[in-house]
Amino acid sequence: MMDRRIRKEELKIAIHEAYLRFRECNEGRNADYIPYLANAGSSLFGIAACLPDGEIITAGDCSSVFGIESISKVPTALLVLKDYGSETLLDMIGADATGMPFNSVLAILLENEHPSTPLVNAGAISAVSMVRPVGNSDGKWEAIKENIEKLCGSEVRLIDELYRSESVSNHNNRAIAWLLKSYNRIYDEPEMSLDLYTRQCSLGVTATQLSIMAATIAFGGYNPITHEHVFNSSLTSRITSLMATVGFYEHTGDWMFSCGLPAKSGVGGGIMGVLPGVFGIAAFSPPIDAAGNSVRAQRALHFVMEQLNLHIFNGERAFIVEDEKN
Ligand code: GLN
Repeated sequence: MMDRRIRKEELKIAIHEAYLRFRECNEGRNADYIPYLANAGSSLFGIAACLPDGEIITAGDCSSVFGIESISKVPTALLVLKDYGSETLLDMIGADATGMPFNSVLAILLENEHPSTPLVNAGAISAVSMVRPVGNSDGKWEAIKENIEKLCGSEVRLIDELYRSESVSNHNNRAIAWLLKSYNRIYDEPEMSLDLYTRQCSLGVTATQLSIMAATIAFGGYNPITHEHVFNSSLTSRITSLMATVGFYEHTGDWMFSCGLPAKSGVGGGIMGVLPGVFGIAAFSPPIDAAGNSVRAQRALHFVMEQLNLHIFNGERAFIVEDEKN
């Protein structure tokens, strides 16, 4: 495999150019099925990349707090992988793309042997049900939140208004939780699992925090900011495979084909991308497309990946290197 060196300056220029290019893009609409998200500032837009040496490159609104939503499925899947191992995750949840929307009930009916993958709602609720200590809501919440904080390297807080907003409108997810119960694919109390899933989706994060979480995944569990080893390096390939397979739901194939960045989106407007060994990157902007993926964030990440020719399957090994001194 060929090595290719990319100077930090090149990455900085690509990120800033992406920001300037797509700042004015007016496509997409805020998610409106969760009332809180409908009111988020539609012009907010930020891009952040975290490098192996802990340097973070940012452009735009990288300190704005927004709902992590489905991106929370990634850290909780990691927690389950850590606690149970990959074979058990494969057996109890699965690792297959559904090719359907994130909240599909049909996907569960078609695959009654598995909730498919921890990165769609069914599998994520199932994953939450496996978090230890089983049967103890407070203990489980502590474990979920602490895991996210270790990955991000800083504190995250619940957005109460979002949690309330989502709790009164999550009827579809309630149906999913009980359907999983009927297939013996939920491993704790369904209502508790649903509540914890809703709560984890309502955590507030910034683009900078997500870039650090992505970097921790990209660097085999080593958080470049706190210098802590958060998980065993063997799990990077597992979690990145899940992201590459289903991170954009029914549009994952298109996304991987054109952009080549294993990534996970959330209806709050965030996207977190992991390029193993290279960097963690995140972008955020509330207006989303019909599949629930942020339009500006997709464009920005796509631009950076293309500009620097970073497609994960391009047969090269990229390294971000210091700028040359004159
Ligand atoms: N909390 C949202 C839901 O379950 C998350 C969906 C998403 O971000 N794709 O509907």
